[in-house]
Amino acid sequence: MSNLCGYLIGIDLGGTNLKAGIVDRGGRILHRFSIKTNADAESLVISQQICELIAEIIKNARIEKSGIIGIGLGSPGLIDKQGETILFSPNLSKWRDIPIKRIIAEKFDLPCVLENDANAAAWGEKWAGAGKNANSLVMLTLGTGIGGGIILDNKLWRGMNNVAGEIGHMSIQTDGPQCNCGNYGCIEVYASATGMVKRFRKLLESGKASLLKKDDEITAKRINEAAVQGDEAAQSIIEETGYYLGIAIVNIIHILNPEVIVLAGGMIGSGELLMNPMKRTIEKRVLKASYKDTKIVFSQLGTDAGIIGAAGCLLKELEISA
Ligand SMILES: [Zn+2]
Repeated sequence: MSNLCGYLIGIDLGGTNLKAGIVDRGGRILHRFSIKTNADAESLVISQQICELIAEIIKNARIEKSGIIGIGLGSPGLIDKQGETILFSPNLSKWRDIPIKRIIAEKFDLPCVLENDANAAAWGEKWAGAGKNANSLVMLTLGTGIGGGIILDNKLWRGMNNVAGEIGHMSIQTDGPQCNCGNYGCIEVYASATGMVKRFRKLLESGKASLLKKDDEITAKRINEAAVQGDEAAQSIIEETGYYLGIAIVNIIHILNPEVIVLAGGMIGSGELLMNPMKRTIEKRVLKASYKDTKIVFSQLGTDAGIIGAAGCLLKELEISA
């Protein structure tokens, strides 16, 4: 039986930063450490970086290795069915399938789990964030793309091949623009930060007046700032984003009837400007019985969800096997 007393290590392998945290059993980060990811390096170099990061955080936190329960690693991209190898990662160009879970477990002689980062973040919110104690939860991370994580009956739903939860590729427009995935009219094309910026540029090109100009560097954050200052063009584009998200969420509610839907990612900085039109759209279109007890909330863990969730996934796995 595993020893479940002590601390967990959670790792968030991002294309820009490689972040680690010492996490307690209540889902709080006690120490953190991060380094720049050597994203263009070969897989072995990156896996070495991950091991160095783990060694460094154990040293910095001054915790005896015997006080560490294990290591959870959250990674973007495709993870094999067994949860042992990152097969492909969009942010790590030269990554080839190497058994990273085994490498870490053997190097530190500790249990390790490997989880998709969107799944890990969803588990983090369920364990210690906006969806605490919820039995079912769906998380949408609105960033460059739209990530999704689904928890049903207190378990992550990974699908047969570990690729479930691709909510960003839910088609909401049959004749919409083609998405990177090959499908048309995916919600990601409209309501990711990238999608919203694209629609805003189009609006400016059509001659709509705004505080932001065509040649400015336009980001979702700047659109939000302009909206807060009363810019009508920016307000209308955020409102439209809320409308598109509302349509996708109606589909999710009809299929899963989840207890909580958590929205995360940089775009939730728009707050009520995004939430209100989204809820109006949902209320107008949803089956009342499917929606009546569902809560839609913003993430509480923010960018820490990945670290906390990876640690939580490890704890959950050990508890199951204990
Ligand atoms: Zn798509």
